[in-house]
Amino acid sequence: MIASDRIYRQWDEEIVPRLVEYIRVPAKSPHFDPDWAAHGHIERVVELARTWAQAQPIAGLQVEVIRLPGRTPLLYFEVPGKGERNVLLYGHLDKQPEMIGWRADAGPWTPVIENGKLYGRGGADDGYAIFAALSALGALQAQGIAHARCVGLIETCEESGSYDLPAYLEALTPRIGNVDLVVGLDSGCGDYERLWMTTSLRGLAAGTLRVEVLQEGVHSGDASGVVPSSFRIARKLLDRLENPTDGRILPAALHAQIPRERIEQAGVTAAILGDIVFTKYPFAGETRAMADDGGEALLNRTWRPALSTIGADGFPPIADAGNVLRPSTSLMLSLRLPPTIDGNQATQVMKSVLEADPPYGANVTFEPVQGATGWNAPPTAPWLEQALDAASRAVYGKPSAAMGEGGTIPFMAMLGKQFPEAQFLITGVLGPHSNAHGPNEFLHIDYAKRLTACVAQVIAAHAAAA
Ligand SMILES: [Zn+2]
Repeated sequence: MIASDRIYRQWDEEIVPRLVEYIRVPAKSPHFDPDWAAHGHIERVVELARTWAQAQPIAGLQVEVIRLPGRTPLLYFEVPGKGERNVLLYGHLDKQPEMIGWRADAGPWTPVIENGKLYGRGGADDGYAIFAALSALGALQAQGIAHARCVGLIETCEESGSYDLPAYLEALTPRIGNVDLVVGLDSGCGDYERLWMTTSLRGLAAGTLRVEVLQEGVHSGDASGVVPSSFRIARKLLDRLENPTDGRILPAALHAQIPRERIEQAGVTAAILGDIVFTKYPFAGETRAMADDGGEALLNRTWRPALSTIGADGFPPIADAGNVLRPSTSLMLSLRLPPTIDGNQATQVMKSVLEADPPYGANVTFEPVQGATGWNAPPTAPWLEQALDAASRAVYGKPSAAMGEGGTIPFMAMLGKQFPEAQFLITGVLGPHSNAHGPNEFLHIDYAKRLTACVAQVIAAHAAAA
């Protein structure tokens, strides 16, 4: 049994103040800040985390910033341990962009602590990860509890699809060794009352659909009815991808067979969560969910594809809108994919579906921007299942639970391929209303402290199970 006091104290005295500093830095992922290198924000958060990490009283700890030419930096650490086996801890320091809709007294780069929640961009996704990882290891060592050798990969390209990570993984493989437990701290939790293990992640296929009908805009009174609307064409093209009535994605190649154990698990999780499955979303007015049944809603968000249109070009803001037949419409499409569908192949499916036989012969292009493959957890080893449940009962006073997540962590698919024998503890603090990527993102401080204690227990159990 791990005494959690040291972890909780370290969170209060060191980690929360560091995360407050971290939130102030607009360390946007390269995708959202192409000049990231010149701006230096990524560098600042790496330095902030490195300085703290290096000062941890952990025997044999080595902390290094690794830089491959032309790529975002990676913070790497190594802690020697018992036996031949290795634990890999993963997190990231780059952030999503600002997003609109923040409360007036807070903002993405303006940290506010209220009711035990630290508001601001990146605290929960995923700045806390390196602090939690090393705090867990420090607590084990302070009590003389054995752990295996641990390595940490804290990247700065995750929110851009981790395109720099494969190169780092390749360069570091000889140092990392063979991994048999992966601890990923970038995922979600169903509520704030127990340890949640993520059993699957969706993939992502994103790109820009552009429909062009004119060389320049013309008076809509003159042209409408003769020149087809680029917006209407785009709408029709989207109907090839999804059923506009119920949102079901149409191409069969974008669906996967849902494993039976995942269907059963969704039912169990829906029973634990009850209304939270729906009330976690800030629905406007009388808006209803796309499914009434909790289990179906969970399967929709974890094992079925779904389309979001996340950006648009070719439109003036409403205040500046003249009566013009616009020359083009561009839509940024973001399609979440079932865990077992290949992300890059999915972008090619989108391209062929959207570009085929363009209405009115318009110029239609789909340029893939990102393809990331999801992840389905291997069967959980008995020692890990026991360790998760024991940790959850000891720390939260309730049994652990498992569920799929609807987001994407591209690295998990890479790791699953590279270390097919590994076990995974993928978990995180992104629970109800924590709103990573949206406005008013918060870190539930008490939940994160306890999660750190759970991670320590699981790493101890891993060493004991050797
Ligand atoms: Zn993240």
